[in-house]
Amino acid sequence: MQPVPVPPFAGAAAAEPGGPRLKLAVQRSGRLTQDTIDLLHAIGLEFESYGQRLFSHCRNFPLSILYGRDDDIPGYMALGTVDLGILGQNLIHEEGVRVDELAPLGFGYCSLIVAVLRDSPYQAPAELGGCRIATSYPRSAAAYFKTLGLEPEIITISGSVEVAPSLGMADAVVELTATGSTLLLNDLRPIATILESQAVLAASPAAMADPARRATIERLLMRVKAVRAAKRFKYLMMNAPEAALPEIRRVVPGLKSPTIIPLADPGWVAVHTAIEEEVFWDSIERLRAAGATEILVSSLEKLML
Ligand code: ATP
Ligand code: ZN
Repeated sequence: MQPVPVPPFAGAAAAEPGGPRLKLAVQRSGRLTQDTIDLLHAIGLEFESYGQRLFSHCRNFPLSILYGRDDDIPGYMALGTVDLGILGQNLIHEEGVRVDELAPLGFGYCSLIVAVLRDSPYQAPAELGGCRIATSYPRSAAAYFKTLGLEPEIITISGSVEVAPSLGMADAVVELTATGSTLLLNDLRPIATILESQAVLAASPAAMADPARRATIERLLMRVKAVRAAKRFKYLMMNAPEAALPEIRRVVPGLKSPTIIPLADPGWVAVHTAIEEEVFWDSIERLRAAGATEILVSSLEKLML
């Protein structure tokens, strides 16, 4: 197949059929990259993401994707280099940029925490006023301690922050953690959580204020929400005696209400409904106890709520 020539990224803003071409910044290589690319494919976008590309154009949606360092994404959004970004909420907080968080994406979960060496005397962040704190998130750290009325010395390091206390460089760290395993490995003990974070789709206020771009953003957002909702719900079918219906409706109220179809056997019905993944096993046990049988569950691909 012949490669389709694409215009350079900077020139891609011109209007074209299907609305103005939006620009979306994503992390090029890191913890968010694979989930981000998977999500963009799941919402039906066709683009090449392999190799050392700096940007790619979607073939079937007016969107160009810019691959960059995650730390640069808030700046790109503030400067108007891009309209949209997929990034951790921790970075939005750190950079203090004004962006519209359009949708949480359900990946990149982590917490920004304060940690000290396991055998250090410090038990609470309020004791760290005169201390030295190592972090890659200096603004978030300073802002947090300010809320406690403290101004500890904050030193900014871009990597391996977690080794700073054992090297004697700092008394505490402000660091991201997901599972806590890196903390354990470095003998660190968390004493406070500053922020819980996950990846979000965010838009620049300038893009949202422009009706043409906003319309395209809404189309994209609708797709993201449909894919996210489909992940949250399962489709559930079961047979049950009619007498069990009140209890079944209590357990699985459905999105509006369940579909109930009479079976050939008198006194029996088939119930079709949606069920939230989170309460799934719990609900199934209650449905069985209520008399439901032949319970069939299937995954959803998209769900427009
Ligand atoms: P880049 O080269 O793009 O600057 P990075 O090394 O700064 O990459 P990653 O470590 O890939 O960034 O983390 C990207 C994002 O993933 C973080 O900003 C955060 O939102 C999220 N994240 C999830 N879990 C963790 C974790 N355990 N440690 C750090 N970040 C995490
Ligand atoms: Zn980074």
